[in-house]
Amino acid sequence: MSDRLIVTTSADAFARGLDYLYGIRSLAPDPEMIDLIHDSKNREVICTWIGRKIDAVNQRLHQILQDCHNCFHTWEQPNLQIFAAPFARSFGIDAICNLETEPITILVDVGRVLPEDWLLLVLHEYAHAHAGSPGHHLQFARSLTHLCLGLEITPPIVQPGQEDCLRFYPPCPLIPDPLAFWRGEGQEW
Ligand SMILES: [Zn+2]
Repeated sequence: MSDRLIVTTSADAFARGLDYLYGIRSLAPDPEMIDLIHDSKNREVICTWIGRKIDAVNQRLHQILQDCHNCFHTWEQPNLQIFAAPFARSFGIDAICNLETEPITILVDVGRVLPEDWLLLVLHEYAHAHAGSPGHHLQFARSLTHLCLGLEITPPIVQPGQEDCLRFYPPCPLIPDPLAFWRGEGQEW
């Protein structure tokens, strides 16, 4: 499986976590989307947690990705990799699909929503990958609707020309302090 980004052989959890963050930065459309490396207050505890737990979290994301793949024939499935990433608050995003990497990369801030809602973030980004565009237009709406139907999630009702309202579809409650998850204060992994 290609979904491993930890490049160091270090046994030290902090070093592994920091390596992971640098790896994620290289896959983001803008490396500063992952700004924790500059955060002297939170960096140590979060990198250490990442070094210990990120494989299990990414394994779960990989299963969700597979659930999305299963909604399509093999030849319709985009070539994708997926990783958890703590996003800088200033960017105001929960997940992103970077179509410029090969394979296409989905990054998900798993601290922003409850684990049972991760699917909602992943399927939105999967629809971008399937449509081959970051825009919220007709082709995106078709991909998104197909995924919703396959995953038994209420599909969107879109009036022609109103596809931009899909920017936040499916709706999903946000967690006020996303870094709590990354500090290891959520469920045990
Ligand atoms: Zn979108």
